[in-house]
Amino acid sequence: MNDLRTNERARTAIVIGGGVAGPVAALALQKAGVEATVFEAYRTGTGSSGGPLTLASNGLNALRVVGADQVLAGAGIATPRMMIHSGSGKVLGTVESSADLPANTTLPRGRLTELLQAHAAASGIPIVYGRRFVDAVDTGRSVIAQFDDHTTAEADVLIGCDGIRSTVRGLIDPAAPTPRYTGLIGFGGFSDDALGAGETGGVFHMVFGRKAFFGHVSDGERTGWFANLPFKHFTREQLQGTTYDEWIALMRKLFANDESAALGILDHVTPESFIPPSPLEDLPHVPVWSKGRLALIGDAAHATSPSSGQGASLAAESAVELARCLRDLPVAQAFKAYEQARRDRVERVIAAAARTNRSKAAGPVAARFRDALMPFFMERFTTPERTAWQYAHTIDWDEPAASRV
Ligand SMILES: Cc1cc2nc3c(=O)[nH]c(=O)nc-3n(C[C@H](O)[C@H](O)[C@H](O)COP(=O)(O)OP(=O)(O)OC[C@H]3O[C@@H](n4cnc5c(N)ncnc54)[C@H](O)[C@@H]3O)c2cc1C
Repeated sequence: MNDLRTNERARTAIVIGGGVAGPVAALALQKAGVEATVFEAYRTGTGSSGGPLTLASNGLNALRVVGADQVLAGAGIATPRMMIHSGSGKVLGTVESSADLPANTTLPRGRLTELLQAHAAASGIPIVYGRRFVDAVDTGRSVIAQFDDHTTAEADVLIGCDGIRSTVRGLIDPAAPTPRYTGLIGFGGFSDDALGAGETGGVFHMVFGRKAFFGHVSDGERTGWFANLPFKHFTREQLQGTTYDEWIALMRKLFANDESAALGILDHVTPESFIPPSPLEDLPHVPVWSKGRLALIGDAAHATSPSSGQGASLAAESAVELARCLRDLPVAQAFKAYEQARRDRVERVIAAAARTNRSKAAGPVAARFRDALMPFFMERFTTPERTAWQYAHTIDWDEPAASRV
């Protein structure tokens, strides 16, 4: 029987969502002495392996707190360098991981989730699959979660890790914003195959093509690639009604005049390894992150568009930070301290990604300015010192969380 007021410390938690934030939150809560159960809407093994996702140094730092960095070792391609090119083949700049930070790692999105879930389960965390959360009731002494199969669960707090279309967010604030479309649609794939691309030597190549954006990385045996296409308006029917062959043909046309690996890779892509298009979205500002016993982390609170390469890393950081606060503070203060520690940082990352999206969707004139000016800016602003705020961020787990209320 739960019996806890929000001016006391939580002992039990319901975690909604088993993507990235969910398993990491449950692991961090366990380390903080809070017993957590994860409820995931999908059944195991139903997800696709997904397109490439890069975990940045800061995300790996957060995963280290719960021992998950070791679980990922070897699962991806080490990508310590990102090289930006124009469609004409000119190098516009390079972003290099600092040698004293863990090197960025690129792996399929679905594989990341699988590994984190397996690590949580192996650590004794119950994960209940096939249970879609629909509502929550605050009894004054506990929270009761309700699921679509009419079952319930009870705990001291409920953490919404249910992604960009979060149900928990709507319960915390019915006026909460919905995802914002960035003007780009994304495709991609990750294959256990070279896809005709040579080994990139730890470099993730990104090309601001004349008409669309293309990225790829390969270790000679595995290849991750993605394309972002500017699309001002589309309907869901248009996206769903376009066939695989039509998408490949469209990409071939858009990348035809670029100096990049795009056409070679598209020659080798198969329908099985192709992740169909989805609109790229973000949530620049979710005003309310918690209410009573409910709080949000990950994309539910602060979804950044994929252009930042930071969504999963920020989700892992927030999971660890919230657990640290719940370890040391009563619920209400913990939620406040967590938000104060996180909001400025995540919104800064989201805003930077939105600027990148505008560059990706640039028309011919703006693209000429971009290609001319970018080397100047990258040389000055993407040095390890200038990017340390993002990539070197580390949460000191042992430092007591301070109430700033
Ligand atoms: C194309 C693309 C490329 C990306 N590339 C990168 C990258 O390179 N680097 C990076 O760091 N990030 C990247 N991201 C972003 C990253 O995937 C997300 O930021 C990250 O997955 C967020 O984790 P999360 O746990 O908050 O949400 P999710 O991973 O979306 O997990 C949410 C989970 O909640 C479950 N769920 C939803 N509703 C319910 C419910 N009602 N009840 C129970 N369960 C529910 C879902 O099934 C899902 O498993 C990319 C995203 C996209 C779309």
